[in-house]
Amino acid sequence: MIPYKAEVKHDGKLHKFPIVKLKVDKCRSCGEEFFTTATDEQITASLRSTIGLLPPAEIRRQLGQLGISQRTFASHLRIAPETVSRWMTGLAIQNRALDTLMRIYFAFPAVRQTLGKAGPLDMSNRDQVNKIVHRAKA
Ligand SMILES: [Zn+2]
Repeated sequence: MIPYKAEVKHDGKLHKFPIVKLKVDKCRSCGEEFFTTATDEQITASLRSTIGLLPPAEIRRQLGQLGISQRTFASHLRIAPETVSRWMTGLAIQNRALDTLMRIYFAFPAVRQTLGKAGPLDMSNRDQVNKIVHRAKA
């Protein structure tokens, strides 16, 4: 464990944040510290919480609650299933726009219904979306 000043580029922006205890490995012969997969995962998780993006556990929880598979979720979001699986394993972080889309998707049934239809996005049922959004505000 070492204190570490992380610098990670995400969404075209450089984020700098401190990590109090970063998990690193140490060479037994020369004592040199080096990063492992666990180190990278920790940095990724810290970045997510620093800039306020949904963590994998929360995405998994929401999908479980709705009974939606990762594959279906990916198709609703118009992204590759591999992209979702990379988020879940911590190999990649969603950008802010997709994070926002996910939050809206989880919050509003009408959004899931609209995105659940195959093909180009049909916004003709926007009255229904507006009604549900209005109700949520009340
Ligand atoms: Zn060594």
